[in-house]
Amino acid sequence: MKEDGRESEYQTKIVIAADGIESMVGRWAGVDNALKLDEVDSAYQYLLKADPLDQECIEFHLGTKIAPGGYAWVFPKGDGLANVGLAITPAIGNNIKAKELLDFFVMKRFKNFSVIEWMTGGVPAFSRRSQLVKGNILLTGDAARLVDSLSGAGIANALLSGKIAGQVASEYLANGGNSPDYLKKYEEEFLKIKGRELRFYSFCRKIYLKMKDEDFEEVIQFLKEYLKDEDSTRLTPIQTLKAILRSNPKLLLLLRHLVW
Ligand SMILES: Cc1cc2nc3c(=O)[nH]c(=O)nc-3n(C[C@H](O)[C@H](O)[C@H](O)COP(=O)(O)OP(=O)(O)OC[C@H]3O[C@@H](n4cnc5c(N)ncnc54)[C@H](O)[C@@H]3O)c2cc1C
Repeated sequence: MKEDGRESEYQTKIVIAADGIESMVGRWAGVDNALKLDEVDSAYQYLLKADPLDQECIEFHLGTKIAPGGYAWVFPKGDGLANVGLAITPAIGNNIKAKELLDFFVMKRFKNFSVIEWMTGGVPAFSRRSQLVKGNILLTGDAARLVDSLSGAGIANALLSGKIAGQVASEYLANGGNSPDYLKKYEEEFLKIKGRELRFYSFCRKIYLKMKDEDFEEVIQFLKEYLKDEDSTRLTPIQTLKAILRSNPKLLLLLRHLVW
């Protein structure tokens, strides 16, 4: 480890890798955490003071020209502020940059705005290869690719995985810390809670990356009808996605060329 410019060596029974998308710890441990081109998004976000802004409404803007393989978002934060960002899947984006598309989006969407801060980074997608434990190394959050592959949301899973990893690590040490197999409990516990959801989003992402603007239009039309009679606060994203797939079975055909 490097601390204040000085190198020190530690011996430890466990390492919890929470070092994000570029996780070196995972790589040093021999985990195959390389992301395929279509398993990573490029995201750029501004904190804007902007007008007009509806503080009661979050916005998602979809379309192959707006954000190929991704979407643009407006998340109001009160006081005329909003997180306004855009993510794309560079593999299908013809070399276009997320920042260029976001700047274009912001100019079109707001009459007045000023940039307060910005952030950018890669967003990994969960896949069947995502690995959470190798020997006595526990990978959490983006380091383990525990991101909802459809929305790119990774904060909640980073927190949950960190919590479970910490709990299992402390149990392991309390029991003497001699049998690293025990640490697999972390992966089992996390995937018991989140595995199905992550796999489902990963499946939906494969469809999403193949959707054309006409498909988005159909989905939006469907949602307008579907949400008219439903209390949307009671619907989970998974229920809504399943309803979309049931009503538009041709979306499943978009996957017909994929080998599983
Ligand atoms: C523009 C953008 C917007 C996003 N918006 C959302 C959102 O609205 N909601 C959501 O849920 N998710 C969002 N995400 C995804 C979310 O940010 C990540 O999934 C989440 O931060 C993952 O948390 P983490 O702790 O695993 O990794 P990180 O937040 O990346 O933290 C890893 C940390 O480890 C540090 N680190 C790395 N290597 C070392 C080292 N060798 N030594 C010491 N420190 C090291 C890094 O500096 C970093 O601070 C967004 C991502 C981007 C890029």
